[in-house]
Order: sequence, then C-alpha cells, then structure tokens
Amino acid sequence: MSNKRFDVVVVGAGVSGLSCASHLRRLGADVLVLERANRVGGSVRSRTLQGGFVVDDGPQTIRSGDPELFRDFHELGIASLRTPADASAARRYVLRHGRPEALPTSPAGLLTTGVLSWRGKLRLLAEPFIRRSRQGDESVRDFFARRLGPEAADGLVDPFISGIHAGNPEALSMRETFPEVWAGAQNHGSLFRWALARRSSGAEAAQGGGGDGSSGDGRRAPSRPEVFSFAEGLSTWPEAMARTVGADRVRLGAEVRSLVRIRGGWTVRWRETSGQEDAARAARVVLALPAGPTATMLEEIRPAEARALRDIPYAPVAVVQLAYPRDAVRHPMDGFGVLCPARGGRSVLGSLWISSLFPERAPTGTVLMACFLGGARRPELVKERAETLVEGAHREMVDILRISAVPVLHRVQRWPAAIPQSEFGHANRRAAAGRIEEHLDGLHLLGSWRGGTSLPQCWRSGMELARTLAGSGYADGAPSGDLRPGSGSTSRARN
Ligand SMILES: Cc1cc2nc3c(=O)[nH]c(=O)nc-3n(C[C@H](O)[C@H](O)[C@H](O)COP(=O)(O)OP(=O)(O)OC[C@H]3O[C@@H](n4cnc5c(N)ncnc54)[C@H](O)[C@@H]3O)c2cc1C
Repeated sequence: MSNKRFDVVVVGAGVSGLSCASHLRRLGADVLVLERANRVGGSVRSRTLQGGFVVDDGPQTIRSGDPELFRDFHELGIASLRTPADASAARRYVLRHGRPEALPTSPAGLLTTGVLSWRGKLRLLAEPFIRRSRQGDESVRDFFARRLGPEAADGLVDPFISGIHAGNPEALSMRETFPEVWAGAQNHGSLFRWALARRSSGAEAAQGGGGDGSSGDGRRAPSRPEVFSFAEGLSTWPEAMARTVGADRVRLGAEVRSLVRIRGGWTVRWRETSGQEDAARAARVVLALPAGPTATMLEEIRPAEARALRDIPYAPVAVVQLAYPRDAVRHPMDGFGVLCPARGGRSVLGSLWISSLFPERAPTGTVLMACFLGGARRPELVKERAETLVEGAHREMVDILRISAVPVLHRVQRWPAAIPQSEFGHANRRAAAGRIEEHLDGLHLLGSWRGGTSLPQCWRSGMELARTLAGSGYADGAPSGDLRPGSGSTSRARN
C-alpha cells in the first residue's frame, strides 16, 4: 500500500463516510477508506445473540420515504432484506402520571387524548393567535411553551427531544435544531397555519420522498416516510456499502494520525492495530468523523476553526437492551415504545419495543426492548457500572409496563459522544467547517454534526459530496506555497 496514490481517501467508515465512498466508487473514482475500528458502521452495530435475539447497540430504526435511498438499497443488493416496522409502530406512548398514554395520531385526537389536561388542550387552541417571535432564535422549550403552552412543551415535546435527540430542550437552539419548523412558524405566523399550508401543498409527502419511488425490483419506496430496519439489524446497510467499495479498499484497524499537504493533494498517515505505520496519497481527502476527532486532525493547520468544532457538544447515551418472557409483561407493548418526560424524574429517556416493531428479532414467547439512559440532562448516568444501568432500567420498566419477571437477556452499550447537540452558537461552529474547506483545497468534511444526525441525513450528505467531487474531478490545485516544511501544512493527531 505504502504511499500509493488514490483519487480520494475517506477517513471514517460510518454511514456518512461509506455513503460517500460507495457512491464515489460507483462514479468511477479510485477510493480508499480508512477506519480505526475493526468493523465498519461507526455508531451502527448489530449483533445476533444466542437464543436468536437480534440487537442493535446504537441506532434502532431508519425513518425515510426518500426514493433515492430505496433505489440505493436496490443497487447495494439489500432491498429484499429491508424489514418495515409493524403497523402498530404508528402508536407511540408517552408517560403521564407514571402510566404509558397513547399519543394522538391526528390533530383532532389532541382534543380527546389523555396526554393533556383540559386546560392544556384549550391552551393548544390559542396557538394561531400567538404572535411570531421577534427574536432571532429561542430555545426549543421556550418556542413550544410560547406557542403550544407549557403543558404541551413539557409533556409532549420534551420527551421527543430527550428520547430522540438525547437533548435538553432548554439548551437547544430552535432555529438550528428544527430550522423548518422555526421558519414555518415565522413565515405563516402560526404552527397550525403552517401545517395546513404544508398539507394543502402536498409538501409533507414530498418531504418524505413520495412520488413514484420504484426501487426497480418491485419493492417500491413507500409514499410516506416509513420506519424500517433489516432482518439482521441495521449493520446490513454499512456492510453492503463497504462491499461496494471493495474489501481491498476498506482498511480496518487503521487509525489516521496525520494529514500532510503535498503538491497536488494530501498524504494521509495512519497506524495499524499492529502498531505499523502506513501512508497513502490522494488528490482529495474526506474526513467523515465526529466533530472531536475532526478537530484533532486539524488543530495545527486551522487552530481557531478546530477549536470551534471541538466546542460542539455531544450528549452521551447508554443503550440497555432487556428481554422478558412475553407472559410476564402486563402491557400489550402494542406500539413503537414509550417516551419519558423529564418532569417524571425517570432515568430512562425512552424505551423502544423492538420485538413489537420487528417480531422476528426475538424468539417466540419473549419481548425485546431497547432503553436509552443519560442524554444531555443526565450525562453522569452513562458512566455508571453496567449492573447499575441494567438494574435501573429494569426497575423502571417493571413499574411502567407491569413486568413480573427478571430479564432473560440484558446488554449494555455506552456511547460517550452519541449525538451532537445544536445548542446556541451551533451555526457559527458549523460555519467553521466551511472556512476549513475554503482554505484547504482538496479537504472535505462530513459527519452527523454537519449535515444532520439521522442515518438518512448522513447517507444523503455523503452521496451529495461524492457527486460534487466526481463532478469537479480529482485534480487538486494546491498552491505550491503550502508545501514548505513548517508552513503549517502538517497536522498531527493527538495521542
Ligand atoms: C445510541 C444512538 C442511537 C441512535 N438512534 C438513531 C436512530 O434510531 N435513527 C437514526 O436515524 N439515527 C440514530 N442515531 C444517529 C446516527 O446513528 C448517527 O448520527 C450516525 O450513525 C453517524 O454516522 P457518521 O458516519 O457521521 O459517524 P460515526 O458513525 O461516528 O462514524 C465515524 C467513524 O469514524 C471512525 N474514526 C474516528 N476517528 C478515526 C481516525 N482517527 N481514523 C480512522 N477512523 C476514525 C470511527 O471509528 C467511526 O467508525 C443514533 C445514534 C446513537 C449513538
């Protein structure tokens, strides 16, 4: 391999990096992927356990209706392995007064739901009369409390933010976290009016990627966004992307330590698990890493921007998988799962009912769930011992779902930097990425901190970058002035 030249070196084999690399490969580029871990997928990791349980240690589901994504599954040869979630996934529960309460599935249902008191429901009806914000931004909690009332903000919106983003609604910027909702409310003067306008213009379906969406193998993309996984878990997807890149082009156990600017591109140096060092040259380098490791790579070349990226906060999350005999659980578990508002004082942020979504993931007669703990509000929990996390999650699930048995399976996975948080100032931090790319020809930055945290967003950012790179070619216009030793053209990763 030593010092071989490629069109593009992609650092990081998560969904962002593999999407970019697999599209580049299909567009004819000579690509090398370097991945520190001994497997591909990054946060995506599936396992088949003894007894027939199929678990995902990180993300649990994909939600999309994007026809391009479904076409990609077909091209990758995994369309037939996709498993749509059971229809009951449309039902979601929120904890209220300690009991799971089904969320309304339509706006009219908001008036009959038990999730809000009569006072809370009446306050919702005032939303169209609330003035638009005169500020440039506000916290997610302030925005929804002002528009929908404090009860809806704390009982409905809060559990979604902590259960899905692992975030703290009081610290998150509305404008950065939900740019479309913010703009909708500002432009239409009301969330209800904005929702009506979207419905009548058909924007809702289009956003999910409705339309034809034929995947070419008879499995059409759904006309509305759909929740799904794969029969053997989400890892099927990054593994298929890695196969498309080619086994000889994906180096596992290769930790990139430095980038060196050279004439016509970059030299990328890495250390193998064995301790051996190696290097490759490329016209273009794509860093598809979380914000912290990206900052480490760039701290000598662009220190100010690297500091800005390092300041992007990440919420830690512990995923605790629990399985029980079906007949020991009183609750029917007939839905996606249950989200827990912060005011309830639970340590579980939410619990996804995996065996209800994908019945083949657990042996007959058992139920499997994934519980999330920690997040931006209780980061210290993620450092607890595994037994403490299991005991805590089990105790709360016993109470919420009325369980009368010990778990037949438990498993803990900690993610110390799980999900980037769009807190106030995120726009400036993200803008630093643009400045890095402007100043460093041939260097490109990808990742969930930049293009959105959901898996379809990571995939789309990677694909779009691949198309841009393929469209502009792989020759680099590095000014020779950058090549002087000591000119700041070298970056070393910290140990
Ligand atoms: C617990 C959890 C639950 C989630 N749930 C969902 C969900 O249900 N649905 C959803 O859509 N999204 C979910 N997400 C978000 C989604 O999983 C992530 O945003 C996405 O996987 C990020 O992909 P990525 O490629 O940008 O980064 P990563 O997956 O972090 O990949 C980065 C890769 O870079 C490698 N790397 C780091 N440093 C180096 C180096 N120096 N040299 C070489 N390689 C390096 C890492 O080993 C890693 O493989 C969840 C995330 C977590 C953590």
